[in-house]
Amino acid sequence: MTLQIAENLEKIRQKLPQEVQLVAVSKTKSNQEILEAYQAGQRIFGENKIQEMTQKYQDLPKDIQWHMVGHVQSNKVKYMAPFVSLVHGVDRFKLLKELHKQGEKNGRIIDCLLQIHIAQEETKFGLNETELFEIVNSEELKTMSHICIKGLMGMATFTENNTQIENEFRYLKSLYDRLVQLVSTHAAAYPRLRPEILSMGMSGDYPTAITCGSTMVRIGSHIFGERNY
Ligand SMILES: *Cc1c(COP(=O)(O)O)cnc(C)c1O
Repeated sequence: MTLQIAENLEKIRQKLPQEVQLVAVSKTKSNQEILEAYQAGQRIFGENKIQEMTQKYQDLPKDIQWHMVGHVQSNKVKYMAPFVSLVHGVDRFKLLKELHKQGEKNGRIIDCLLQIHIAQEETKFGLNETELFEIVNSEELKTMSHICIKGLMGMATFTENNTQIENEFRYLKSLYDRLVQLVSTHAAAYPRLRPEILSMGMSGDYPTAITCGSTMVRIGSHIFGERNY
């Protein structure tokens, strides 16, 4: 048996600086494939469907940290609220409210990232700059004690044009730096904000993302092979 997944993981790890965390995006992949990565030391896995992630959480070792990287429907938050480790794709205030509500029910604080729309494609979800700072500065957010906003997430345009990808990532990094600055100078005014994660970079663009300041990359096909939907 060839341990292709373990080998792929090793190659990627060699390219990641120490401080950059790797989320192995395992959507559509089997428990067996996930276990191969697990046995190679991987502990953070990313899924984009709540039902699939919940099933895998039940079936697989309990020291796995499950990240929700996809678009989240508010009515499904309750299924992942007991165990999800980080929700990457928060793109509206209403979803934050639901995360807070379900965090409270489960007696825990749910960590999340605000997703910013940086790509030119219309199909990608996310907040714009104005919406981001509206959320960050809202009075209601201060009262939402069962969530913690740990940073930002974004997806660059799917293109061969590396300059464009770089510009999009640099823009996201500049927003992230503004959040860090806000919190470091006015921590008491932003009790639900603790920015330390900038989630950007996938199989096709993670080296660029790292150059631009990513602290967390989300890699699927370069670890597990192409997905068959
Ligand atoms: C699927 C997915 C990834 C991983 O994509 P690859 O190109 O296979 O590395 C990363 N982030 C999100 C949000 C995804 O949905």
